[in-house]
Amino acid sequence: MKIIMLGAPGAGKGTQAKMISKKYEIPHISTGDIFRANIKEGTELGKKAKEYMDQGLLVPDELTVDLVVDRLQKEDCKNGFILDGFPRTIAQAEALKNANQSLDFAIDVNVPDENIISRMEGRRACVGCGATYHVVYNPTKVEGICDACGKELILRDDDKPETVKKRLDVYHDQTQPLIDYYANVGILKTVDGTQDMEDVFNAIVTILGA
Ligand code: ADP
Ligand code: ADP
Ligand code: ZN
Repeated sequence: MKIIMLGAPGAGKGTQAKMISKKYEIPHISTGDIFRANIKEGTELGKKAKEYMDQGLLVPDELTVDLVVDRLQKEDCKNGFILDGFPRTIAQAEALKNANQSLDFAIDVNVPDENIISRMEGRRACVGCGATYHVVYNPTKVEGICDACGKELILRDDDKPETVKKRLDVYHDQTQPLIDYYANVGILKTVDGTQDMEDVFNAIVTILGA
């Protein structure tokens, strides 16, 4: 099963993609996670990507497309994958099509802008394993400490309200057009992302099939 997740920053793509990955035993591929890993390791790609990410802008397609296309060639993607955060532009969607990746589902996790700011302000990410929590909606057992690995949690730089506003503008401008794009392809499925995490997941499972 080849799936992509669409939705605004903070809509819950990553949260759902991790659950889908586990249930359907397909790799979860997040371009945001790949860029953050590169930043942490101090690679050339990480340095370049950071300049854009810190401003709430998209990393240019030239730095993003090959990375994903190469990743999808790996053995573990043979039976499918769940892409989270890619494609984010029409050009990226076209590149995916040209790489002969015929997708089964494009799932749009729909959350209005009003809900996004509070989601992002409360999001916390683990510095160790990248797990994501929310101070209200998905808190850790011990405040500020990752349940999975025991390392410290941080608020991502790009989750501060000023940057989130910019990211939402960029989303509406460059990524939202993909909703019509995949509706035309005939694989778009929309779920109400304002529900509880488990209810969003159940709606997705209904679409994908148990
Ligand atoms: P979120 O899950 O909150 O939407 P991500 O972790 O997916 O955030 O992405 C963080 C940042 O990484 C984005 O704001 C953007 O700068 C960059 N990024 C991630 N995926 C892409 C992509 N497909 N194309 C361009 N930039 C990307
Ligand atoms: P995205 O990958 O789309 O940027 P995340 O999955 O990281 O979004 O979720 C953004 C924040 O909102 C996280 O702190 C997460 O724990 C929380 N969150 C995710 N789904 C829900 C939900 N259905 N209800 C409330 N909070 C949620
Ligand atoms: Zn952790």
